[in-house]
Amino acid sequence: MTTQERSLCGQIGLSRVGREVVLAGWVDALRDHGEVLFIHLRDRSGIVQVVFSPETTDGSVCDSARLLRNEYCVRIAGRVVRRSPGTENPHIPTGDVEVTASALILLNRSRTPPFPLSEKSMLAGASVQRDDSVAEDLRLQYRYLDLRRPSMQDHLVKRHAITQTIRSVLDPQGFVEIETPMLTRSTPEGARDYIVPSRHHPHTFYALPQSPQLFKQLLMVAGMERYYQIVRCFRDEDLRPNRQPEFTQLDLEASFIDEEFIYRLFEELAVRMFTVGGIALPRPFPRLTWTEAMNTAGNDRPDLRFGMTFTDATDVFRDTRYAIFKQILDRGGCIKGINVRGQSDRLSKSVLQNEYAKEIVPGFGAKGMTWMRVTAAGLESNIVQFFSPVERQAILKRFDAREGDVILMIADPSWHRVCSALGQLRLHLAGRLDLIPGDVHSPLWVTDFPLFEATDTGVTSSHHPFTMPDRADFDPHNLDELLTLKSRAYDLVVNGEELGGGSIRIHDRDLQMRIFRALGLAEEDMAQQFGFFLRALEYGAPPHGGMALGLDRATAMILSAPSIREVIAFPKNRSAFCPLTQAPAPVAQEQLAELGLLDRPAAPPLPGSGRKQDPVQALSWKARIGLLDGEQEAILAAVAEARALGEQVSEPLDGQEGGAETAPLFTVLTVANRFRAGDQALPCELSEKGELLKNAPAVKGGYFKVAPVLE
Ligand code: ASP
Repeated sequence: MTTQERSLCGQIGLSRVGREVVLAGWVDALRDHGEVLFIHLRDRSGIVQVVFSPETTDGSVCDSARLLRNEYCVRIAGRVVRRSPGTENPHIPTGDVEVTASALILLNRSRTPPFPLSEKSMLAGASVQRDDSVAEDLRLQYRYLDLRRPSMQDHLVKRHAITQTIRSVLDPQGFVEIETPMLTRSTPEGARDYIVPSRHHPHTFYALPQSPQLFKQLLMVAGMERYYQIVRCFRDEDLRPNRQPEFTQLDLEASFIDEEFIYRLFEELAVRMFTVGGIALPRPFPRLTWTEAMNTAGNDRPDLRFGMTFTDATDVFRDTRYAIFKQILDRGGCIKGINVRGQSDRLSKSVLQNEYAKEIVPGFGAKGMTWMRVTAAGLESNIVQFFSPVERQAILKRFDAREGDVILMIADPSWHRVCSALGQLRLHLAGRLDLIPGDVHSPLWVTDFPLFEATDTGVTSSHHPFTMPDRADFDPHNLDELLTLKSRAYDLVVNGEELGGGSIRIHDRDLQMRIFRALGLAEEDMAQQFGFFLRALEYGAPPHGGMALGLDRATAMILSAPSIREVIAFPKNRSAFCPLTQAPAPVAQEQLAELGLLDRPAAPPLPGSGRKQDPVQALSWKARIGLLDGEQEAILAAVAEARALGEQVSEPLDGQEGGAETAPLFTVLTVANRFRAGDQALPCELSEKGELLKNAPAVKGGYFKVAPVLE
């Protein structure tokens, strides 16, 4: 049996019947029929059944096979035979055949895996599914086993197919794959940086790139014209279920191009990438300006797989006598609504009033919600009597309402609040009423974003500060004017998720400096943080633009995976922790010292921390219960007594086997509080001063670390 002769399990089929093959892989499952043993042998290509039968296999090989267990790694030689009619296995593509073993080499044993890996039944009738109940942290801790599961291998193989597709689209168009540094300066993408201390330059730090933004722009200045990279980016953002501290982007930049170039290129890329998952994206992708997206779906990444887009009803109530609407309109507000078509049976008055109007919609930031059900007799709601017949007619007409529909409206002085709350309501209802078709993919471009967003102290970039504004004649100190600027940025959205975004960039140094000024950057800060970049713009920087597409997210969507962690080989868990390697982990003091990070005077040792080696002291330290003189000895004596008792009980009595019939030597005592000697509770000075936790040792992540006993 040599490696060269090896056939792949998944390739064994009817065309090989009668041939001798050598296979290597893992025991996926076993079925012992007394005389005959069946195993499912699995390699990356698939699974094939191997039979060890005394009729066809040497007795010693059968004996060795009997010692096999799940996940043992083996090499097997045998002959491919057609299965007898009725014994075919429809669960595996090789199910028409099996291999009668002639030789077996055990390459390595395996401990029993901590969770089942097999996903394919050995029996025609029964089906085995991947076990999705396994705790994710356990899967991540044993990721090398989790990745043996065919469904997980399929994800990684398809992810590879997606990246191959990307390369095959970009290469013929003259894009060059170029690597950019991982140890670099901060790039402002709006998140915190992961920083890396430098040993050679004490007290200075590299930042891991939030994106290759500045380098890819410098590559345009360098005349590379078309760059791309499948690149890892690092952003220290707040934890969210579908976020990773490090993630992969398809990052791209091109010179002498405009938005249309990017739209065409990324539509082609997206269509080809989605084909790997058997999904045909409709082209061309529709486009919505940011204002249109907000006005119709209340979201800058609208999910257009279902209708229920907004209808503006502000003018319908221009002369209303309904006081709430009147006051809002007098304050310059607006009224928008959605028609939940044909759902009035599923949205009772009580659900609309008590759940949505009183609880859910206020949770979305609006003061309230107006609801109306459309019946044969007209509109029905708790406030319909306040509307004139003309208004009622106008509502029905404006919302194109028919019997069975439910009209929901939100009114507020703030346009933004109306859009945002109604947008959240639209998604909430679509989820609750199951209105989102699972098999539809709806891509679109969102364009013309505001260049800036207001902050407490000024403005911040909506995309990043290198984005070209729609006009250059603005005053960088006029906040109101800044907030009217639009950017030449674009986002690619699919099914309500932002898959990517980019912009046409600023290539003029003066304009770039005015943007920095608008962002409140002083000249020295500009020079210090971006001096190298501003200098590059002085050397004939070409017009350019680009985009980045989140590869983990796109892959998860293409493969219908429930989370991006399913398509990343070694992801962190939801807490940004790696259960496999236990990262992040403390480092040795010496390492910190070497990096010059221990120059400050060492913090005084935490109270009690030096005594943690002693188990009794450690327990007392953990519980924050101080021990009085002599108590430690008493506890140790009691523990020793208990241990001796345990040993005595577990020893068989002389001459008796196991002692099962022996009456217990001891009785269990009723649990009761034991108080220290003296009938007075001991006053604690710290408690009286309200400082009971004064000496609690640590503050972690901004939180006071409370003793477990108090938690
Ligand atoms: N650097 C941007 C990002 O990572 C994308 C771009 O503007 O190309 O979001």
